[in-house]
Amino acid sequence: MTDSASSSTRQRILVVAPDDRAGERLARWLVDSGYHLIRYKEARKLVEMAAEEHPDLMVVSLEGMNPDEQAKMVVLCSESEVPAPTLVLTKDGDGMTGFVRGNCTLDWIDESTGQEKLLTRVRAILRVVADSQQEPAAKRDQLTRVYNRRYFDERLEMEIERARRYGRKVSCVMVDIDEFKSVNATHGHQAGDGVLKILADVMLSSTRSSDIVARYGGEEFAVILPESAGKEAAVLAERLRTAFENCGTCLGEGEPVITVSCGVATYPDHASDSATLLRMVDSAVFRAKSEGRNRCVVAFPEGEDGFESEEVTTSRILLVEDDDYDRGVASLVLRASGYEVLEATDGELGVSLAKTTHPDLVIIDLQLVGMSGLEATRQILQMDEMKDVPVVALTPGDVPGNIEALARVGCRGYITKPIDTNMLASQIQLYLEE
Ligand code: GH3
Ligand code: MG
Ligand code: MG
Repeated sequence: MTDSASSSTRQRILVVAPDDRAGERLARWLVDSGYHLIRYKEARKLVEMAAEEHPDLMVVSLEGMNPDEQAKMVVLCSESEVPAPTLVLTKDGDGMTGFVRGNCTLDWIDESTGQEKLLTRVRAILRVVADSQQEPAAKRDQLTRVYNRRYFDERLEMEIERARRYGRKVSCVMVDIDEFKSVNATHGHQAGDGVLKILADVMLSSTRSSDIVARYGGEEFAVILPESAGKEAAVLAERLRTAFENCGTCLGEGEPVITVSCGVATYPDHASDSATLLRMVDSAVFRAKSEGRNRCVVAFPEGEDGFESEEVTTSRILLVEDDDYDRGVASLVLRASGYEVLEATDGELGVSLAKTTHPDLVIIDLQLVGMSGLEATRQILQMDEMKDVPVVALTPGDVPGNIEALARVGCRGYITKPIDTNMLASQIQLYLEE
């Protein structure tokens, strides 16, 4: 189970759920994660109940209510006298977004979208509650409760100064929602605001409490990672991107899931002051957008605009991996080390990309769905132009028998999962130099 409520004083959550099954489900999810639970069935008495119990958070399920009752409930939860932050859960309450105000947050959760999504929101809200008990509200963005731009700018200056003094690194990740204008245009500004809150919560849940998460501008968020090198920041960016994508935020039936693009830059690798660092991270986001959105891109080193570095001959790597997270992380780390990376999501695509692009090295997952990694390797190495190219397998561990099978199809070697992001680029370099 999740380590959500590991602090010594367990946080208290009041669950209000008129529908018994919904209540049981929420209670189980929260108790499993270590929270102290106060259950309550009757929704009407919510304000009195909260005043009596002083919960850290209220989770209200709208399941089993008719649309009129749902709207009344959201209005009630949005009133300023409600003494705790409130997370309202609905399966199909698209029409509710217009009533949400103040300390109330709305999310679309049902049995299938599950525990992890609920815990993301709960963890984020409680983290902010804990932080804000010790600091003035002026540091926070009112809508999303993460830090505001002014505080972000001050902290970035401070962290760079500290890194300069002690010879350390500090990284910055910028996250920009894709095609957000069309979200607002189709569903209205208030629904857009709901998406901003969800992204803020995903960012809070996916980062350490020493990381500074801020709203940088309209639909742009940024994270300062003190003491973190570019590769760690790239891994975090990819984790944020996939976590948000996996939340499946989608405001209308048949519409695409909303995604984000991220840029990553590091002091002192990419810039020697905060203004330049922000410019570098911004141009990395711009590249992520122009390369197709829903991806993370690491900045070029200071002084390079990306076109110059094209002149250096870089090795081209074909990465065949069907797991989005593994592929994303490996590709980011390799790109950050200057390789050109082509991605294939299955064996067949891998074989056809090998034929058309003649990569200098192939990394291939052994456990692909559909055509197996071994079969794809065999087909790739049968091509005349590919027969001397190193193929390196990604394996789930030192599985006995795998090694012989790999050697039989001509694999040059293997790398075990989970991928060690600090080692990957140098491991690959060795195969290229053989
Ligand atoms: P891209 O994928 O290139 O980032 O496209 P985009 O539409 O997300 O980017 P663009 O910068 O053109 O538009 C950003 C939109 O974000 C425009 C603005 O209306 C919206 N926005 C900015 N602040 C807020 C806010 O506080 N709430 C809501 N709902 N929308 C906002
Ligand atoms: Mg933007
Ligand atoms: Mg945008």
